[in-house]
Amino acid sequence: MSKNHEGIWESCLKVIKDNVSLQAYKTWFNPIVPVKLENNVLTIQVPSHFFYEWLEENYILLLKKVIQKEMGKEGRLEYSIIMENNTTKSTPYTVKLPALNSKNLKNAPISMPLDINEKQIRNPFIIPGLKKVNVDSNLNPSYSFDNFVEGDCNRLARASGYAVANKPGGTAFNPLLIYGGVGLGKTHLSHAIGISIKDQFPNKTVLYVGSEKFAHQFIDAIKNQTTNDFIHFYQMIDVLIIDDVQFFSGKEKTQDVFFHIFNHLHQNGKQIILTSDKPPVEMKGMEQRLVSRFKWGLSADLSAPALETRMAILEKKMYGNGIELPKDVTEYLAYSINTNVREMEGALNTLLAQASLNKKVITIELAKQMVDKFVKNTAREVSIEYIQKVVCDYFDLELEILKSKTRKREVVQARQISMYFSKIMTKSSLANIGAHCGGKDHATVLHACRTVRNLSETDKQFRAYLEDLEKKLTIQ
Ligand code: ADP
Ligand code: MG
Repeated sequence: MSKNHEGIWESCLKVIKDNVSLQAYKTWFNPIVPVKLENNVLTIQVPSHFFYEWLEENYILLLKKVIQKEMGKEGRLEYSIIMENNTTKSTPYTVKLPALNSKNLKNAPISMPLDINEKQIRNPFIIPGLKKVNVDSNLNPSYSFDNFVEGDCNRLARASGYAVANKPGGTAFNPLLIYGGVGLGKTHLSHAIGISIKDQFPNKTVLYVGSEKFAHQFIDAIKNQTTNDFIHFYQMIDVLIIDDVQFFSGKEKTQDVFFHIFNHLHQNGKQIILTSDKPPVEMKGMEQRLVSRFKWGLSADLSAPALETRMAILEKKMYGNGIELPKDVTEYLAYSINTNVREMEGALNTLLAQASLNKKVITIELAKQMVDKFVKNTAREVSIEYIQKVVCDYFDLELEILKSKTRKREVVQARQISMYFSKIMTKSSLANIGAHCGGKDHATVLHACRTVRNLSETDKQFRAYLEDLEKKLTIQ
């Protein structure tokens, strides 16, 4: 009785599981789907190019062994890769793995941005006075990999960061772009990579810089007519970490200079690590040539951690600070603050401060009080309904009229104002806001927001209304 592709792959997985760490197993083998078995060729589907490459680099020997064990000497493996190209949705394409004995991955039959120059071209411009060793890396030692808790929310980003740290400039992940919302660990992870590189390769010049600082330095350099020095300085860095690149948006000159630095570093096999609050495709106000370079390597996202991860993070922080809290208190904190890690840490610190100031024992009741205060002050989001109610009260209008189709001037204005606040204070889409305001489409909402912004710039009285309303909406 012979097995089908699923049966074979299942047997392979059993062996693999015994030979790799649980984390590696979850990250690299769980997502694989066996697709077919034909003429002794087992085809497995992997989610991305990156995945394929990673398997090839790290698990080729293991894969070879298990395939031969399950399928005999003639057994072959093929990959089917889901294309990450967003226009052609997940069209798999296939990569043949030559005879499963290739140790030389550089001959893998696909072109990857992997082959960076082995020989490094020396930078002829290095300023003689600037000794490499003098560059302060700006790394915060507490933002290490050890202190970074792994979870589903950060698995890919963490794993690729780890790969980059072990082989800076020598992987396909160049640049490595880590993106995600506020307080989800972008800064922490980018430091962790830098710290690990410094540990393993003390001679490499690693530099962490916030994009804001980079932009300011550049402006200073223009003022002092030292732009050449500025550029040369950045061009001699081996590992450049730029945090929050979204800050470059709209700053053309800064983007230009960064573009040149980027190219220089990249061409010379230097590692670039970037963080951003959004993926490259969504970056606005950024030059296309820069965005396209951001896409060269790997973009990995950080998302909000699940409950278990949040608890693990809290426990790690407490352990690091030599604190212990009752289990129900940590659970409560992790359960009630689910927006981002920074906020959760904030709540933990406030709780500890309160407890020590007032010499109180930390109980679940105290935790509840703190979270009530804390969450109300920060993570509260007003609803569209609430905004409409406040606006109607303010202008003394009936809610029904606001939602009706009437074109009376004062109603139109109140309606536009509530759309405007709904846009800036809630996470609702334009279409959803429109639907709440008497079935308007997204273009109408967009127009309303623009009108309100224009009026607030030109009309003093109108601006006063807005400021009043904003106060009412933020203090509850
Ligand atoms: P971002 O740069 O994305 O806004 P940060 O890197 O500043 O976020 O993270 C906010 C806080 O949350 C930091 O104190 C960081 O140490 C902590 N944090 C975030 N994610 C994790 C994690 N997975 N493990 C441990 N701490 C984390
Ligand atoms: Mg940050």
